Amino acid sequence: MRVLVVEDERKTASFVRKALQSEGFAVDACHNGNDALAALRYTPFDVVVLDIMLPGRDGLSVLRQLRERKNATPVLLLSARGEVNERVEGLNAGADDYLPKPFELAELVARVRALGRRGGDNKSPVLRVADLTLDTVTRRAQRGGADIELTTREYRLLEYLMRSAGRLCGRMMILEKVWDYDFDPGTNLVDVYIKRLREKIDARFEPKLLQTVRGAGYTLKEPA
Ligand code: CA
Repeated sequence: MRVLVVEDERKTASFVRKALQSEGFAVDACHNGNDALAALRYTPFDVVVLDIMLPGRDGLSVLRQLRERKNATPVLLLSARGEVNERVEGLNAGADDYLPKPFELAELVARVRALGRRGGDNKSPVLRVADLTLDTVTRRAQRGGADIELTTREYRLLEYLMRSAGRLCGRMMILEKVWDYDFDPGTNLVDVYIKRLREKIDARFEPKLLQTVRGAGYTLKEPA
């Protein structure tokens, strides 16, 4: 199960992420509402753990936006003590459950598990960015309906980029997620693979989806 944790307090986000990971969940974390909406646009999550108090766009606004897009991913709201009105408002806006802070990690894990089961079986295994699709069950990649042959490593790179669609993927992060390196081998490995991938998914197609962010890394997204 894949869980998105949206929480601006880094320490809390980190505790929650570790607790869920140790229970076998795949976890992505965002620290503000706009990043959360971007992540949810491209990646199918099984559950979202959403803090109400966020800088800028708050949790309730993220929730409303999500439901407006007809995205029914189960949402567990986190609320600080005293935010009773927000809690009620959250449930009205389409939250599936809420947990007041401070909470026990075991309780959070149990609630997330329950929500994941509820959402369960109708989740699409297909990642999509514009007309590029990647079926994470059959590992079939297509663009504009045409099959794209990928090596195992290219597949992992594309899956990572698509799951992170709309967000900046730094070289170190790519090395960690796709090659399991926790060090920089000091080669242009990532750039070489990005180039190969680009030839496969972008060269013959418009618009170009795989973009270079100079000096920082790469991002896969549909140009605005
Ligand atoms: Ca917060």
